[in-house]
Amino acid sequence: MYISNNINNKRINKVYLENIRSFIERMKYVLPEECLKNMYANIENVSIKQASKHASYSYYSCIDNKIRVINESNSLWHELLHLSSGRYDKTTLTECNGYRITKYSKFHLGVDLDIGMGLNEGYTQLLTERYFSDRKILPDYTLEKYVAETLENVVGREKMEKLYFNADLLGLIRELQKYISNREVINFLNTLDYMSNVLAYINQYKKENKAALRENIIAGCRNINHFLMKIEYTKNHSFSSSPIVKMTICGEIYDIESKEEINEYNKKLMMKSA
Ligand SMILES: [Zn+2]
Repeated sequence: MYISNNINNKRINKVYLENIRSFIERMKYVLPEECLKNMYANIENVSIKQASKHASYSYYSCIDNKIRVINESNSLWHELLHLSSGRYDKTTLTECNGYRITKYSKFHLGVDLDIGMGLNEGYTQLLTERYFSDRKILPDYTLEKYVAETLENVVGREKMEKLYFNADLLGLIRELQKYISNREVINFLNTLDYMSNVLAYINQYKKENKAALRENIIAGCRNINHFLMKIEYTKNHSFSSSPIVKMTICGEIYDIESKEEINEYNKKLMMKSA
C-alpha cells in the first residue's frame, strides 16, 4: 500500500507537496488499484517546479518525467493526471500518454508518429473536472472535453478510465471497432488532433487565414459529429443525444449550425450508413 505522507522526492518543490499528497489520496479514493500503476511509478522520481517566467503554458513531459506549472497550482491537477496516465518505453522510443501515442525517431527531435493528442487533452480535462472540482480549475479544451464525454457515454465510464490510466489507446481503438471501422476511428482521432491544434494557436493566425480555418473546423465538426452519432446509433439503435459541437474561436462561441439543421443532417447520414 502506497503511503502518500511518505513522499520522499527531493525533486518536488515543497510548495506543491501538500497538493500532491491530497491528489494521491483522492485518486486512491475514487479509482481502483488497476488504474493507479503509472501514478505510483512516476511520482517516485518526478520533478515538479514552477515554469520559467516566459512560459505561457504548463506541461508534463513523460520522457523526462517532469511537470512545470505556470502559476501556483491552477493546472497542477490536469498535469498530475497526465503523469498518472503516462509511460515511456526507452527501447522503442515510444511515449504512451493516456490516449496519445508519440513515437520518436532516432534522429534528434524527430517524430515518426503522433496520434490522439486532442482526445487525450479532452479526457484529461474531463477527469480533472470530475475528480478535482473542489479545486481551482480553469476551463480548458472545451471542444475536446465534449467529444471525450460523448465517447465515454458509448464506451462506458469504467472501461474508458481504465484504458486511459493504462495508456492503452490501442485498447480503446479495439473497443471502438465493435461499432465502427478502424479507418474511421483513425480518421476521427486525426481530425480531432487537427482541430485541437488549430484552436490552440488560433490567435496567432492572421485574420485573412482565419476564414479558411473556420471552414476546415466546420468540416471537422461535421466529421466528428458523424462519427459520434454513428457509434451511438450502432450501439443503441437510437440517438439519445444530439451532439452539437460547440467551440471557442477568438473568444466567441459558435453553434456550427442550428440544432435542427444538425439533427436533420445527422439523421440523413444515419439513414445512409445504417
Ligand atoms: Zn494537458
